[in-house]
Amino acid sequence: MDQKQLNNEVKKRRTFAIISHPDAGKTTITEQMLYFGGVIRSAGTVKAKKSGQFATSDWMEIEKKRGISVTSSVMQFHYRDKDVNILDTPGHEDFSEDTYRTLMAVDAAVMVIDSAKGIEPQTKKLFKVVKKRGIPIFTFMNKLDRDGRDPLDLIAELEDLLNIEGCAMNWPIGMGKELKGLYDITNNRVELYRKEGDDRYLPLDENNKLPAGNDLEGEGVYDQAVGEVDLIKEAGNTFDIKKIQAGNQTPVFFGSALTNFGVQTFLDSFLDMAPAPGEHKMQNSDDIVKPDDTEFSAFVFKIQANMNPNHRDRIAFVRICSGEFEKGIDVTLQRTGKVMRLNNATEFMSDQREQVKSAVAGDIVGLYDTGNFQIGDTIYTGKKEVQFEDLPQFTPEMFMQVQAKNVMKQKSFHKGMQQLVQEGAVQLYRTYTTNDYILGAVGQLQFEVFQFRMKNEYNCDVVMNPIGSRTARWIDPEQLDPAMSSTRNMLVKDMEDQPLFLFENRFAENWFVNKYPDVKLSSKL
Ligand code: GDP
Repeated sequence: MDQKQLNNEVKKRRTFAIISHPDAGKTTITEQMLYFGGVIRSAGTVKAKKSGQFATSDWMEIEKKRGISVTSSVMQFHYRDKDVNILDTPGHEDFSEDTYRTLMAVDAAVMVIDSAKGIEPQTKKLFKVVKKRGIPIFTFMNKLDRDGRDPLDLIAELEDLLNIEGCAMNWPIGMGKELKGLYDITNNRVELYRKEGDDRYLPLDENNKLPAGNDLEGEGVYDQAVGEVDLIKEAGNTFDIKKIQAGNQTPVFFGSALTNFGVQTFLDSFLDMAPAPGEHKMQNSDDIVKPDDTEFSAFVFKIQANMNPNHRDRIAFVRICSGEFEKGIDVTLQRTGKVMRLNNATEFMSDQREQVKSAVAGDIVGLYDTGNFQIGDTIYTGKKEVQFEDLPQFTPEMFMQVQAKNVMKQKSFHKGMQQLVQEGAVQLYRTYTTNDYILGAVGQLQFEVFQFRMKNEYNCDVVMNPIGSRTARWIDPEQLDPAMSSTRNMLVKDMEDQPLFLFENRFAENWFVNKYPDVKLSSKL
């Protein structure tokens, strides 16, 4: 690919994630988008979920069992002149860590809100992560086919709870049983509910009047919508693309994912406004990597084992930041300086995975991995060293002692532990003197998933004994005296053999600090 082609390819890319509280409709809207992209033939998760068939984004066995989306997956499709990458994010709060890292790999976010519920806790949490990155956020107020909250209220809530300006792009005409359509402010038309094809659009004339003899004449809800649109045009936030690009204003779209109402209009506007892949900063210098630099560079944001039960593989997901990925290229792994050939890579087209021929900035490729990669790793071609900024780390709060139920299964136990820990959802520690395994996670569910996968994928039953919620504090090895350890402040070491205490509670930590005033403790390494 020459420079001009590379440029053109990068400009077509749109890479984003959907953030929402569980049940707001993320899966449903994702499926609608995949449907528009021609990736799946029919969209309709609800029925499918009930009959035991699952959304293409729900891969793992455990997700099916629990009906929640646990892992991040990647879906790619071509729509109009764009190549779209959707990075799926687990909705359950116990998996927020996985989601945070995925959010580091996108250029924009879509926030799906249930219009009956407004902004829910998980949305708020994820919003904060996205906001920090300063990337554009687009809002879809979902479930308009149900009675929800006053649209003016919903917009005000964005400002009140999230501190972001909301700018309405369209406005509901009725709601629930009274839903008649959307007043499309941007395109100056009305989109009728439950109409197919071009029939569903009614253009407005220069005085914003509907054509004579239309379905909406005399409908009270229409007059109300017009009144509200006038109000927001006058008193609402003015559309400001600069603010949108910086994540300080969010364009707001109303609709109903389930009835495929307003979704395509949303997708069209979103893809026009969302940015193509941008520059990436380096960890230790002010240098930047531009997306159309010809040297290839990428970072690993997720590692996952055994996504396909037919192949016992492990995949490192990398986000390309520059250059072109071609099968068989030689890259340097920045952390070790090791050069490796990338022969086996896969890109993600909903449920089938296809071999990648070439991919550019913004694309996600999955690299088959035999244990070379860690989360946060940078890979690059060319002589100039590239190291992207570190990904955020989390400190686990819950801990479990783990062992294999059957001592004869030590080998698969160790293998499973190593691989699952490398995926980054759970952290592994060893007790300082006895070398027992301790797992740390941000939530209970992660332990359940771990246990389930050990059995399912590594054929190893594990026994876990909770040691409760604890605070992890690292200590300088120079200052360490093993006699400092007790059951209230358990001494363990992390994967890099660095010592830390797991304090039972704040009281235990304070006691320790008082007893050893010179010892420095830190919440992160
Ligand atoms: P997720 O947890 O955010 O992925 O949510 P899902 O897409 O699985 O949707 C959760 C539930 O809400 C399902 O029962 C969907 O059918 C339902 N749902 C999604 N979108 C809509 C909508 O626009 N209207 C209505 N009435 N229900 C919806």
